[in-house]
Amino acid sequence: TLSPFWNISLWVALGVFTSLLAFLPKPLGILFLLVSLILRAIYTMGLAPALLLLGAVNLFNKLVFLVSFVGNQGTFTRGYKAVVMDMLFIYHLGYAIICVLGLFVHEFFYSFLLFDLVIREETLLNVIKSVTRNGRSIILTAVLAIFLVYFFSIIGFLFLKDDFRMEVDRLPTPGKGDQLSNNEVAGSCTKDSCPLSTPQPGPDDGTERVCDTLLMCIITVLNQGLRNGGGVGDILRRPSKEEPLFAARVVYDLLFFFIVIIIVLNLIFGVIIDTFADLRSEKQRKEEILKTTCFICGLERDKFDNKTVSFEEHIKSEHNMWHYLYFLVLVRVKDPTEYTGPESYVAQMIAVSKQNKHALHKQEIVTHTSFIPPKNVFPQSCLTIKAVDLFAS
Ligand SMILES: [Zn+2]
Repeated sequence: TLSPFWNISLWVALGVFTSLLAFLPKPLGILFLLVSLILRAIYTMGLAPALLLLGAVNLFNKLVFLVSFVGNQGTFTRGYKAVVMDMLFIYHLGYAIICVLGLFVHEFFYSFLLFDLVIREETLLNVIKSVTRNGRSIILTAVLAIFLVYFFSIIGFLFLKDDFRMEVDRLPTPGKGDQLSNNEVAGSCTKDSCPLSTPQPGPDDGTERVCDTLLMCIITVLNQGLRNGGGVGDILRRPSKEEPLFAARVVYDLLFFFIVIIIVLNLIFGVIIDTFADLRSEKQRKEEILKTTCFICGLERDKFDNKTVSFEEHIKSEHNMWHYLYFLVLVRVKDPTEYTGPESYVAQMIAVSKQNKHALHKQEIVTHTSFIPPKNVFPQSCLTIKAVDLFAS
C-alpha cells in the first residue's frame, strides 16, 4: 500500500543509486544502493518474503564469513581448546546461530542482532566494560548491600512486624465480578487444580502484612527498600508520635537511608562511573599517542620542530610502519636462498627474536642479553630499524 508517487520515486531511487554506484565512494554508494533495494523489495514482495530473503542472504553471508574467519585465524589447526577459548569465534558463531533461529524459528530473534552495534562501536563497548572490568568490586559491594538488607530485615522481623503493611491492588477475582467466566473456569478445571473461587478474606482496606515470615521480610526490604529513594521507610506504616516504638522507627528508617541508600548504592554507582571515565581517558591517551608519536622509533611530534623533516614526512616516508610490516612479510614468504644481504640479516634477527621470546616465555635466563629487545618497544620493529640502517649505509 504505497501511493503512486512514492512507488515511482522508489524505483527511480533504485535506478539512480545503481547507476551512481560507480561514481560514489564505495561504502557510501553501496549503502545507498542497499537501502533503496531493501525498501523496494519490501514494497514489491511484501514484508514477510522480503524478510525471508534478507535473512537467507544474511545467513549465507555470515556462514561464508565464518568459514573464512576460521581459515584466516587458523582456528582449527590450533586445536579444539583454542577454538573454545577464542571469544571472537564464539561471538561470530552465536551470530550465525541467531541468524538461523531468526530464519527458521521466529523473526523476533533478529532483534538480538542489534547488539552487534555494541561490539562494533568502542564507546558502547566501554559502557559494557565499565561494569565488567571492576566486576569484582561491584559484586562485593552488592554482596555487602545484601548483608545489610538481611540485617535490617531481621530487625524488622523481630521488632517492627506490625509496621510492614503495604498497599496492594488486588486483581479482580472471578468469584466477585465476572460470574460467567467463573462458571467456565469451574466447568473446565479438575477439582484440585481449581482456583479458589472465593477471594481470601482479609482486611478490606487494601493493605497486606508483608513481614510475617523472615523470607517475606527479606524480599520486601530488598525489593522496596532498594527501589525507593528514601529507603525502606518510604513503604512502612507511618507511626504516630505517641507510640512507644516511634523513636525506634526513626532510627531504623534513618539508618537504612544513610547506610544502604546513600553510602552503599552510591559506592556501586561510583565504581561504574569511575571505570567509565578511566576507559574514556585511556582511549583518548591511546589516540593521542598514535597521533603524536612515531610508531617505529617513538619520537614525539615536538622533536621535529626546527628540523629539516616534518613529523608527517617522517611517519609517511622515513618510518612508515606499514613498510616495515610489508618487509617482514616479504622476508617470511621469500625463498631463503634468494635473500639479499639485508633480507637475510633481518630473517636471522627475526629467528633470534623468536628464540628469545620463547626462552623468556619459559622463564629462562638468557645469557645473550644484547639480543633481547627493550620491553616496551615492538621487538620486530626494532630489529628492522637495524636492517634499514644497513640499507642506508
Ligand atoms: Zn620514527
